[in-house]
Amino acid sequence: MLVGVVGGGQLGRMLALAGIPLGHSFRFLDPDPRCPASAVGEVIVGAYDDPDALARLSQGVDVATFEFENVPAQALAALAERVPTAPGVRSLSTAQDRILEKEFFRACGIRVQAFEAVSSEAELAAACGRVGVPAVLKTRRLGYDGKGQFVVRSVRDLADAWKAVGGAPSIYEAFVDFTAEVSAVAVRSRDGDVRSWTVGRNEHRAGILRTTVVPAPGVPAAVCAEAERAARAAAEALGHVGVLAVEFFVTPDGLVANEMAPRVHNSAHWTIDGAVTSQFENHVRAVCDEPLGSTDLRGASGMVNIVGAMPCRSDILGVPGARLHDYGKAARPGRKLAHVNVCAPDERVRDAQLRVIEEMVRRSSAG
Ligand code: AMP
Repeated sequence: MLVGVVGGGQLGRMLALAGIPLGHSFRFLDPDPRCPASAVGEVIVGAYDDPDALARLSQGVDVATFEFENVPAQALAALAERVPTAPGVRSLSTAQDRILEKEFFRACGIRVQAFEAVSSEAELAAACGRVGVPAVLKTRRLGYDGKGQFVVRSVRDLADAWKAVGGAPSIYEAFVDFTAEVSAVAVRSRDGDVRSWTVGRNEHRAGILRTTVVPAPGVPAAVCAEAERAARAAAEALGHVGVLAVEFFVTPDGLVANEMAPRVHNSAHWTIDGAVTSQFENHVRAVCDEPLGSTDLRGASGMVNIVGAMPCRSDILGVPGARLHDYGKAARPGRKLAHVNVCAPDERVRDAQLRVIEEMVRRSSAG
């Protein structure tokens, strides 16, 4: 099949790298002709919401999907009129709005922290009075990697917080005192088969994911099982087709859902080397209406993101068991350039490999 993908970043590139062995080919829509996916398929150069570019993307493709979450819902709806498109508009628009997302989690019986929608400085003050401090003010839409967020520690911070979100419609949510962050990633096929991968523990720095370790160290198996159940329930409730990732905070009182992504997700990049079928391959299978593959773990797995600066490639490649996935992007502060996966026979070996890789990555970003 010819698969049309809105977005040509590294996620699109890895979708194609997984789908090409199955006999599929790929076409991407991206404003940058030299985007990471340009190495693995044709690129239609244009904006994600340009009707003409979307028409050219859909011309002759069998199915369409997206790898970029900020595609306008109307653009996806227009695409879906021309060609079978997955995930659907409901998944996209729920995940694009932090208020709709939290209301959706609640409706699924998934716990969320106290939150309120705010659209003026007066509403912010009122929300702060009810929800309390500490809290986080985030824009409702178009936030990623911790952008458009401000931590409110006292009422004196409110004016700065309102400035930080640019006065945009926002969510004021209680700060969660978590012991760990985990994500559960599920995939649902068109005929309703739902599978999930083993839950990973995530570490963020400056709002950007740095590492994922699987199975999640220090998180009880029952908590991981609950996260997996919640992600599967969310995929079912949305009638989602494709991969859906849900990020949670682990607290002494249980899980609190943070957010979801209706697409392949950075916290499941480890599945390329650590699972029988990767998130990318299963997403392609789901979109192309093919049976899903096993999500079983191949071994103790982990992933380290390379952000901002590339370490010495031969050092990374010299680490036994290290698998480098380089997106072919120019280095820029805060930019995800590559990731390194490990899949080891046991957790001790995995942790030793991860320590060496993390140290190399830390040295390169410090230098
Ligand atoms: P997000 O963009 O919502 O994924 O936030 C990025 C990161 O900021 C999260 O992974 C957390 O580490 C942190 N964070 C976001 N919201 C909260 C919150 N309500 N309480 C505590 N930490 C948060």
